[in-house]
Amino acid sequence: MNKSEEKYQSPVNQEELLKEEAEDLYQNAPCGYISILPDRTIAKVNNVILEWLGYAREEVVFKKKFTDIITIGGKIYYETHHDPLQRMQGFVKELNYDLVRKDGTHLSCLLNSIIKKDGNGNILLSRTTIFDITERKKYEKELLNAKKIAEKESRAKAQLLSVMSHEIRTPMNAIIGLSHILLEDSPRQDQYENLNILKVSAENLLHLLNSILDFSKVEAGKAVLDEIDFSIRDLVKTVINTLKIKAEEKGIEINLHCDSQIPEVFVSDPVKITQVLTNLIGNAIKFTANGSVTVSLKLVKLKKENATVEFSVSDTGIGIAKEKINNVFNEYEQAETGITREFGGTGLGLAISKKLVEFLGGNIKLESTLGSGSTFSFEIPLKISDKSIIRDSWGAKEIKVNGLKGIHLLLAEDNNVNVLVISKFLRNWELSFDVASNGKEALDKIQDNDYDLVLMDLQMPVMNGYETTERVRALPDKKYQELPIIALTASAIIGQNHKIFFIGMNDYVSKPFNPKDLYNKIEKYGRRSESHSPQVQEIEKINTKTASVLNFEKYELIAEGDKDFLNMLTAETIQNFKSYKAEVKHALLKNDIKAYEKLVHKMKLVVDVLEVKELENKLKEGTDHLNAHNIYSIEKLSLEIDEVFDKIIGELNSHLKKLAIVQTT
Ligand code: ADP
Repeated sequence: MNKSEEKYQSPVNQEELLKEEAEDLYQNAPCGYISILPDRTIAKVNNVILEWLGYAREEVVFKKKFTDIITIGGKIYYETHHDPLQRMQGFVKELNYDLVRKDGTHLSCLLNSIIKKDGNGNILLSRTTIFDITERKKYEKELLNAKKIAEKESRAKAQLLSVMSHEIRTPMNAIIGLSHILLEDSPRQDQYENLNILKVSAENLLHLLNSILDFSKVEAGKAVLDEIDFSIRDLVKTVINTLKIKAEEKGIEINLHCDSQIPEVFVSDPVKITQVLTNLIGNAIKFTANGSVTVSLKLVKLKKENATVEFSVSDTGIGIAKEKINNVFNEYEQAETGITREFGGTGLGLAISKKLVEFLGGNIKLESTLGSGSTFSFEIPLKISDKSIIRDSWGAKEIKVNGLKGIHLLLAEDNNVNVLVISKFLRNWELSFDVASNGKEALDKIQDNDYDLVLMDLQMPVMNGYETTERVRALPDKKYQELPIIALTASAIIGQNHKIFFIGMNDYVSKPFNPKDLYNKIEKYGRRSESHSPQVQEIEKINTKTASVLNFEKYELIAEGDKDFLNMLTAETIQNFKSYKAEVKHALLKNDIKAYEKLVHKMKLVVDVLEVKELENKLKEGTDHLNAHNIYSIEKLSLEIDEVFDKIIGELNSHLKKLAIVQTT
């Protein structure tokens, strides 16, 4: 047993020891204790208070009243509030007093008092506990000051923002207004494109301005979510188109991958989605010096009435350091100091995007490796619209109530490219259909199935469209006389006396067909009982430009971002052109004008869609030469036509290769 243990266990009277401990605690507690008689005289104080105030015990106990050691204001408060209250309820809590030290200085304190009474209810004394709150007061003051400064700064910021946005909005409106006027002033094609970009960019800037103001609204929970029908593919393409110039200037390629399963029309807030995508794609271009930017739309979930789509924007740019990843979403924060100097920007874009995505019901994510690129992505739920998109003349676009859903039809067409193109539209319109590659097959299918309508190509092997129709009409069941048959024909104008009507066809659609026409005809004949008049929701012009030999724009329009489909369509077109080349040569050299005309007729759709003017002209020359029986010139022309075919096939092949590269990136 060591010495200290010995001392600790010394045989002192236990009661006395406890008393001594209680006294020690009383005297040296972390707070002051004071007992006050009903006439305010101080009857007892602990050492702590004496130390705080700088008095000796004999100067205070039974010498001073409690009201002598507080400020005058405190004294008044004690008389008017403190004392009456403690008499009434028996205690008071957390009252703030300034005690006055012997040297006249003050000590900020918090008081709790409790009244002690005798058996008759007479007050004996009030026992008061006092806490020194000097430090707390100091922090409170600092906090208040900081709050005042922050409020002042935030008011100034908001004011600056509203003044700035107003100042910017005025010239912005002039830019937008004037670009509208110039666009209406019959500009040249190249001017038209530039003016359009000018207009769209100015409108975007105005949107951005509004979005900054929106930001505070979203934060304050005051923003509203619009419910507008829109095509998701068109929205993404428009965003890419407006940013394309910037990317082209830097030599950066923008790729778009769009899941073909994603429904065409949604109901949501397209402006907010555009805002987020513009910011993410804009940043990807801004922070990438070499390489590419890839925008992908992936279908995450598909239900009857809604879908979840993941949007992601990847780049091969400067990337963001791991420890900065969370910071970039904060307002006015940039990954590196010096970013503004080098790249410009405010550090607001991602903060706004994050808020908007959250508002749309999603979360924005970022994966990045410093030096090798970043991927920003977000998933949002979207309500599927009951409307669908119909493109007109390969350019103008309408969103219509989908009146074709549920129609079951037969497409009788032998040309694979035509089948691919028409099928794409039929699928978009949610129609079910079968394909027959010749008249005989069509006739069998018509008898084995119950179709609402038949789309019938006129030129088909084994049995042509005319004969097939005649045979259908001759079938004994009445339903075959009523079955609507629409001719697919390359002749642009068919008069009322045309053969197709004599043999019992109901109508025709000319190739290259206008999708809107096809839609309207299917709608007219496909549903014999109900009539669905299309409700036009939105019309937007899309520019087309001409390429050197071929123009793929319409193929891309048909594919709507579906690269697999575009691949298949292009590969099939190459095969078609290869066999056309041989067949045209054969017909020309054999001087077989009938076979030649049939071929020209067959090629019409693809020649028109791809805008192969050179081939179209040469084929026309061929008809003239054959009619003139000029054998020498036919041989020469045949070689020239071969060359044009080779050029077309070459260009198609390199396009196919490009598609493969895009797909693997
Ligand atoms: P701003 O671009 O106006 O500075 P943002 O909020 O859009 O503001 O972006 C914040 C910061 O995040 C940028 O300054 C940059 O440091 C970083 N950042 C955003 N996008 C990318 C990207 N694609 N690649 C690299 N850094 C990025």
